[in-house]
Amino acid sequence: MKVIKEIKAMQDISEFCRRAGKKIGFIPTMGFLHEGHCALMLKARDESDIVITSIFVNPAQFSPNEDFKDYPRDFLRDYHICKSCGVDYIFYPDAKDIYTKDFYTYVNVNSLSETLEGKYRQEHFKGVVTIVLKLFNITKPHFTYFGQKDAQQVAVIRKMINDLNIDIKLRVCETVREINGLAKSSRNTYLNKEQKEEASVLYKALNEAKRMILEEDYDNAKDVKKEIKNFIETNSPNSSLQYIAVTDNINLEKISNLKDYEGDILISLAAYYGKTRLIDNILFEK
Ligand code: AMP
Repeated sequence: MKVIKEIKAMQDISEFCRRAGKKIGFIPTMGFLHEGHCALMLKARDESDIVITSIFVNPAQFSPNEDFKDYPRDFLRDYHICKSCGVDYIFYPDAKDIYTKDFYTYVNVNSLSETLEGKYRQEHFKGVVTIVLKLFNITKPHFTYFGQKDAQQVAVIRKMINDLNIDIKLRVCETVREINGLAKSSRNTYLNKEQKEEASVLYKALNEAKRMILEEDYDNAKDVKKEIKNFIETNSPNSSLQYIAVTDNINLEKISNLKDYEGDILISLAAYYGKTRLIDNILFEK
């Protein structure tokens, strides 16, 4: 496994691999890797000849009041995790090379970026889409791997790939969870033991919402959301729910009337435990 820091070097390696007829699988990450990232890297290992993982805490996707400075970083630990997952190249650039002094170009997926997370994290998806497109141009992959954990990110990247005719296949991997159901996240490191236990309520609540829709035939998404809010408040008194939304999985449009709806349903939420903001979702077919 090699660590590549320079953009041009990474482009040259990727070009060389492509010309040799190798299929490249690429996983963008912000590091502080866990089993969720490993699932993506192992899937890439399975399907591709060359696996590239990027580790870059992208300043452009954090707003000034967010945790960019405190975001956990441990390159040596990540190095060993990548190695154990069979990664061939870690792309580990410096921010000053990615965002040069004269950097002016941002890419935005309108509408999809403004709903759900976008309401509370303005500019977030503009930062995500811009870095992902830059990383695609640097690593030149055939396949790219994203986690369902960040459902809106998947929808936004899928849209960018389609709208801009990018010749890369998007693979989406299921959310990897702790035994208690809490979605694995680099940010879980901010939580203490009690908060980690309490935060497992979020996934229980999402499953409860799914059950209400599929088994109890709730007609109205408003009623489901109200019950789920109560469920979380009762079972996790130290949480603060920011939003819960019932949407489709492609355009992320709100579903109000569940009675007449057929297709995939995405229920997503964000909640605070102290200063730590967690997101989670559940996707199922009705
Ligand atoms: P991040 O390092 O948080 O930017 O995440 C990098 C990639 O890993 C994204 O595609 C995430 O959706 C994915 N990911 C993060 N957590 C999980 C998880 N618990 N299960 C599956 N994928 C995940």
